[in-house]
Amino acid sequence: MSDRIKIKEILTSGKADYEATVKGWVRTFRNNQFIALNDGSTINTLQVVVDRDNLPESELKRITTGAAISATGQVVASQGGGQSVEIQATDIKIIGDADPQKYPLQPKKHSLEFLREISHLRFRTNTFGAIFRIRHSVAFAIHQFFNERGFVYLHTPIITGSDAEGAGEMFQVTTLDLNDVPKTEDNEVDFKKDFFKKPTNLTVSGQLEAELGALALSDVYTFGPTFRAENSNTSRHLAEFWMIEPEVAFADLNDNMDLAEDLLQYVINYCLDKHDEDLKFLESRLLKEESQKPQKDRSDMALREKLKFCVDNKFERVTYTEAINILKNSKPNKKKKFQFVIEDWGADLQSEHERYLVEKHFKKPVILVDYPKEIKAFYMRMNEDNKTVRAMDILFPGIGEIVGGSQREERLEVLESKMKEFDVPIEEMQWFLDTRRFGTCEHAGFGLGFERLVLFITGMTNIRDVIPFPRYPGNAEI
Ligand code: ATP
Ligand code: MN
Repeated sequence: MSDRIKIKEILTSGKADYEATVKGWVRTFRNNQFIALNDGSTINTLQVVVDRDNLPESELKRITTGAAISATGQVVASQGGGQSVEIQATDIKIIGDADPQKYPLQPKKHSLEFLREISHLRFRTNTFGAIFRIRHSVAFAIHQFFNERGFVYLHTPIITGSDAEGAGEMFQVTTLDLNDVPKTEDNEVDFKKDFFKKPTNLTVSGQLEAELGALALSDVYTFGPTFRAENSNTSRHLAEFWMIEPEVAFADLNDNMDLAEDLLQYVINYCLDKHDEDLKFLESRLLKEESQKPQKDRSDMALREKLKFCVDNKFERVTYTEAINILKNSKPNKKKKFQFVIEDWGADLQSEHERYLVEKHFKKPVILVDYPKEIKAFYMRMNEDNKTVRAMDILFPGIGEIVGGSQREERLEVLESKMKEFDVPIEEMQWFLDTRRFGTCEHAGFGLGFERLVLFITGMTNIRDVIPFPRYPGNAEI
């Protein structure tokens, strides 16, 4: 028996007149003769033509949606439309049955909500097959991008002993028995009895550790899971998500913006190049979804057009101050349509404001820079005006913030006084301050939310649909 060949290979080569074995899962079985077989290597199915005369009735009955089968036969040019080749099976084996009375994924349209409830099976649908193939390519392209530029992939800790990352609410890590917590004489939790002999948490960001690496290796990036116990049930937040955090020595905010823009365009381009069929499918899915919405909530461009547009156009670079003026004079602000009306300089931008700037005003990705120091983290480089810091947020249509970054404060005294102002425990952060004490230099970096990028590229609307096993308040299935 010949070795198994993946369906993608058979379909893309388009060659005919050779024997092949394919293995996969039945999507549909028509007229007791035509199997649409999918093995996950492509969104397309291969037509397997069953030799009815030579397959006993009892076996024919077992060819049902969801069953795993193996088929061997001649690959021939297809008579029917829709596919170039098909396989004339001379041998069919049922590897794993799928009882049609019980298998929940019958060949009809299922809502994303329903599929979220059976998340262990949703990989077997066209939509999720496409999403997870693209998710893979996004990760791969990110590593390739940094590798080509000589970056070092640095693994920062997942369990962190630092509680000053400051990016969000943390999950505690402990081996203490919560039913019998050891206490000190002062009736506080006795962490000396805990596994690490101190309080520990799951990381919310690898940035501070990445800075240590950058000030020796020059160009580093992290790409790992991060955890935020934020009780926000939005379509853009997860409790466990993946983040890419490059950190670059001898670089300022402009270099940082260039790097982020190059990275995003590179990855989107890679997906356009490698995933036309998956994207075409997701594009028509999105069109159908949007046809249910009022005209004003529909996208101006189809998915692939939107992705191309992002690759072909420079992102708009705007200061926070300019953005506030645009927002103040905007229609929704004047008519008090925003939930949070912008009154004064200094206001924190909400998602509704970010989306107005990107989707209505500039109609392209926007990089906002130079934010008021009060609304940004302690480690961002102070500008000469002493009011703003060298921060940048990249805003994408339909998503809002996709990247948050900054040039870092490299001057020891300025950093220390900022830490005091922000109540950051200076004593515990000596390891961080040592970078500024010994051989400090200008440096910059950013955090890119991996799932937000996958969300953008796939045109999906809920972040829970672009990660295989989503974690959010009240949900840690599987
Ligand atoms: P937001 O204001 O959207 O909550 P943030 O300001 O908390 O974002 P950062 O701390 O700057 O975000 O994190 C860097 C990037 O990580 C963000 O730009 C975003 O792409 C992503 N990100 C942040 N929080 C989450 C989350 N809970 N789930 C998924 N991605 C996230
Ligand atoms: Mn947040």
